[in-house]
Amino acid sequence: MLEISKLTSGYSEVPVLREVSITVGAGQFVSIVGPNGAGKTTLFKSISGTVSPMGGAIRFEGEDLLKIAPSDRPHLGIAHVPEGRQVFASLTVLENLEMGAFTEAGRKSWKTNIDKIFAWLPVLRERAEQLAGTLSGGEQQMLAIGRGLASAPKLLMLDEPSMGLAPAIADFIFDKLIEIRKDTGLTILLVEQRVAEALQFADHGYVLETGRVVLEGNSQALQADDRIRQAYLGM
Ligand code: ATP
Repeated sequence: MLEISKLTSGYSEVPVLREVSITVGAGQFVSIVGPNGAGKTTLFKSISGTVSPMGGAIRFEGEDLLKIAPSDRPHLGIAHVPEGRQVFASLTVLENLEMGAFTEAGRKSWKTNIDKIFAWLPVLRERAEQLAGTLSGGEQQMLAIGRGLASAPKLLMLDEPSMGLAPAIADFIFDKLIEIRKDTGLTILLVEQRVAEALQFADHGYVLETGRVVLEGNSQALQADDRIRQAYLGM
């Protein structure tokens, strides 16, 4: 579904990512882990288009994504749930979800989609009329995920959904992702610093360090890898 080959990308001609190749098959759950500053967010921004790559290719369902305007990419079925959630603070929860449904697929499926989103994340129904800026961090993260789902995506990209959340809330969010994936078969690309959870739930994982993929494999192999166990799992 998503094929990133030899992607070099960064800011003001300074590469942050160097020749990164990552493949996400339809229906797969792929996690990208790595330390602060490795370039994980830059990778997501390159896919959604707020950062322009300097080299390499990104194909989505066979289409050359780099030839498609960033504003058109969500309409292909790519939803980016950004780091730090970035909900519209002065809009209500429901208005935020409506904003998410700006794609044609999102508009068409709004009525059934909103019921599903409320069933997965009931707190959003309870707080539908509340201003998003007054939600707790965990609730805002759920709203950001709900807003991504409202676009009826094929690929959901999540940038550190557990960031700044208490462990129990982060666990709840991971459980929800598993449930949503089980119910929908949605393709998920996750960036996380919580390496244990990110690998536990994924089919396949990549380790990104200082802008390069240094390790990849199926999640079981990665969880058993000595380098991962020592550097990321504290074993
Ligand atoms: P974190 O987990 O801390 O969010 P990350 O792996 O997502 O890290 P990025 O946010 O992609 O890493 O940052 C990678 C590098 O790019 C860092 O050295 C960062 O300082 C640099 N960088 C990020 N955004 C910009 C920008 N707008 N202009 C210049 N450099 C940037």
